[in-house]
Amino acid sequence: MYVILTVRIYSDNLIKKMSKTAAHRLSSDELLEIFSLSENATAVYTTDEIIIQAASKAMISYWGKDQSIIGKPLEEAVPELKNQEFIGLLKNVWNTGISYEAKDTPALLRVNDKLQEFYYDFKYRAIKDSSGEMYCILHTANDVTERVKRDQFERGLIGKLEASEKRLSTILRSIPIPLCIMQGPEFIIEFANEPMISLFQRYPEDVIGEPILKVFPELAEQTINEDWQEVLNTGRNIHYEEDPVYIYSSTGEKRSLYLTYHYHPLLDTNGIVDAVLATVIDVTEQVKSRMSIERAEEMLRHAVNSVELGTWHMDAVTRKFIPSQRLKEIFGYQPDEEMTFDDALKQVTDEYREKVAEAVEVAIQKGENYDLEYPIIGLHDKRIHWIRAAGKLYASEEGMPSHFSGTVLDITERKLDELRKNDFIGMVSHELKTPLTSLKAYTQMLLARGKKNNDDFNISALSKIERQVNKMSAMINGFLNVSRLESGKIYLEKQNFNLDELVSEIIEETMLFTSSHTITFAPCAPIPVYADRDKIGHVISNLLSNAIKYSPKRRDIEVKCELIDNCAQVSVKDEGMGIKPQFIDRLFEPYFRVESHHTQHISGFGIGLYISAEIIKRHGGKIWVNSESGKGSTFFFSLPVS
Ligand code: ADP
Repeated sequence: MYVILTVRIYSDNLIKKMSKTAAHRLSSDELLEIFSLSENATAVYTTDEIIIQAASKAMISYWGKDQSIIGKPLEEAVPELKNQEFIGLLKNVWNTGISYEAKDTPALLRVNDKLQEFYYDFKYRAIKDSSGEMYCILHTANDVTERVKRDQFERGLIGKLEASEKRLSTILRSIPIPLCIMQGPEFIIEFANEPMISLFQRYPEDVIGEPILKVFPELAEQTINEDWQEVLNTGRNIHYEEDPVYIYSSTGEKRSLYLTYHYHPLLDTNGIVDAVLATVIDVTEQVKSRMSIERAEEMLRHAVNSVELGTWHMDAVTRKFIPSQRLKEIFGYQPDEEMTFDDALKQVTDEYREKVAEAVEVAIQKGENYDLEYPIIGLHDKRIHWIRAAGKLYASEEGMPSHFSGTVLDITERKLDELRKNDFIGMVSHELKTPLTSLKAYTQMLLARGKKNNDDFNISALSKIERQVNKMSAMINGFLNVSRLESGKIYLEKQNFNLDELVSEIIEETMLFTSSHTITFAPCAPIPVYADRDKIGHVISNLLSNAIKYSPKRRDIEVKCELIDNCAQVSVKDEGMGIKPQFIDRLFEPYFRVESHHTQHISGFGIGLYISAEIIKRHGGKIWVNSESGKGSTFFFSLPVS
């Protein structure tokens, strides 16, 4: 800089001398010679053709030329300037006498045979003689290429920096996980993305730029800030899973949350940790639902234990069987004794074993519910234990094979009671049958005699006795059937017959005793079945008498016999009181009756449908009902056709 200044002062003085006393002291050539030695880039032009009168070495080297250009018009000496502004500017200076200067100006110059861009600070000074006429133009220039390029580079760098900062902030903003940056020892929230703001449940302007403990002082009560401090002090990451945290909403309500969070140190330009990047995931819902599942499981475990339920789990594919301790106990195993499914099956009594194995198979293959009562023989005590086993196939969850599992309850006591009760009912019913038969015979004899004597009173009284005796014997037969059913002593005597004919017969029989209702039966094509005619007759008669019993007088009863899906289907439709949905599943249980003020005066023991269902099931058929309370019911059964 010093050199440039001195040269400039020197050249200014020189020019002054040139204009006044040059001729006396130094010749123009001498001056130009000195000039050319200047280390400063300087040139002198004359005329409006911009003839180069002199050029310092530095200027010549800027142009990438040699001494031979002296005396030539600039345009010719440095032809690449032709299309640039400089020649025009110089001509303007010459013509107007007004100096011109500019900084950081780019110029294209051919140096070393290569057109290159340089930058200059330059000045075209109009030098005039004492009369004010243009004398020459003094051109001084400074190559500032390096500085300009450095500036450009820095500007570029800053631009890039700004762009990447912008990009970073876009990325931070677009991350769907709540995230914030807490700056310095006060943990000022410098940045918080949208999900974090909504987790805070605050307006951005209320949190951004604020110390977090000012917004949520309750975090300090929970010493959470100590973790951030630790990140600042140690530069280590901190990670917590499902941490219980409470914060207050802006209206002061306490919000209890479970958060999984990660604190990450951020460094300043000196490599010192000055901020904490926190990512937080709100896992409250997951934790709460898991907790409620755990609670439910706990309750279930309690329930299972308190009723002494045995449980098992069986892999549907590998058939690996895992019994609970209680299940092993029910089957008579010691806790450390191994128990397999085949072992368990062997303990089932002979008459039930096949049925149990088949039911398990059907449950696993078809996913049907498994619910059976059967006797087993205790492993060591060899005594009969009755159990109720119920199970279900659970479809596979992701990564888990489907499994068949369920519960086993020891029902020996109840079962033995039931069996005793059945035996008793069976015995009593059987004993009642003999006197009832003779009662019936004598009644019929007396009735015949009354008819012969035209004794109207006796005829009417004896007819009533006969009807009551018939009712009683039907009832007793019912009990006898139940007891036979329960002890497995009911046998089917199958034969080929037409179901539609049987339906007509039973309707006719029923109508003999009933005048209160109209029974319609649409004619149909013969439907042959192979079944126990008496027992199926019993089922039809039972459905008909229920339809009569449970619907008001003079209402229609519609009976149909159809062939549907290759099954013989009978339906009995009434317009009676109907059945509430909650009772429908229980209708076919033994001794079940709907208790209501409508039914309390209707006699019955709740065994008709149970017996009917057992008969149909034993035929491989189905029985069911559609009903709407207050509107009526339709009972159906279907049998395979022969
Ligand atoms: P019972 O008629 O002797 O009580 P059932 O086994 O035949 O025994 O019927 C069981 C119960 O089902 C009845 O007590 C009654 O509540 C209900 N039920 C049967 N059939 C009908 C029907 N057609 N309409 C309304 N309820 C019926």
